[in-house]
Amino acid sequence: MALHVVDHPLAKHLMAELRDRTTPPDRFRRSADTLSTILILEATRGVRLEDGEVETPLETAKAERLAQSLAVVPVMRAGMSMLDPALRLFPHVAVGYVGLERSHDTAIAHSYYCKLPSLEGRFTLLCDPMLATGGSASQAISLLKANGAEQIVMVCVVAAPEGVEKLSENHPDVPVFTASLDRELNEQSYIMPGLGDYGDRLYGTE
Ligand code: URA
Repeated sequence: MALHVVDHPLAKHLMAELRDRTTPPDRFRRSADTLSTILILEATRGVRLEDGEVETPLETAKAERLAQSLAVVPVMRAGMSMLDPALRLFPHVAVGYVGLERSHDTAIAHSYYCKLPSLEGRFTLLCDPMLATGGSASQAISLLKANGAEQIVMVCVVAAPEGVEKLSENHPDVPVFTASLDRELNEQSYIMPGLGDYGDRLYGTE
């Protein structure tokens, strides 16, 4: 499974903002939005293009245009913060939702909501900011595949080695794009050094 750690100076700067415990929710949301835009741009490098032409004011020029439809599937709740960046970049994207909740005691996720468009032929972005144990991501990818997805990329802000390993075992065909590969999970399955609970940081629910 391919792991891509996006190595852009602005991505690093924004990661520092997100990690900082004193960053308030409004700044956290703004930084998360910009960082998600960078990650989604990188993650969609593999979208198919078709050759064509365009009339400039001066002459005919060769032009390439997107030839593949896309879908974006945020995992609720934290993944919702990656939807607007995806819609701004690709306004015609189809949108699905997966609701997975992780038990605070067992760290095992269960699906409480799943509404997906047909994903056949679509370049599908699965968006979940924290790839921790990989349990939810694995489950979500299985749901996408059951709905016809064949070309899936996982976009996360921070990945733990444990989550990357689980995905490479369960879904080796799904590349992961992230801004950081962190050290490890702690006993509560939080990513270390991480940035805390992404949803709480976004919405101020700590
Ligand atoms: N989810 C989070 O929001 N943070 C973590 O560190 C792990 C999972």
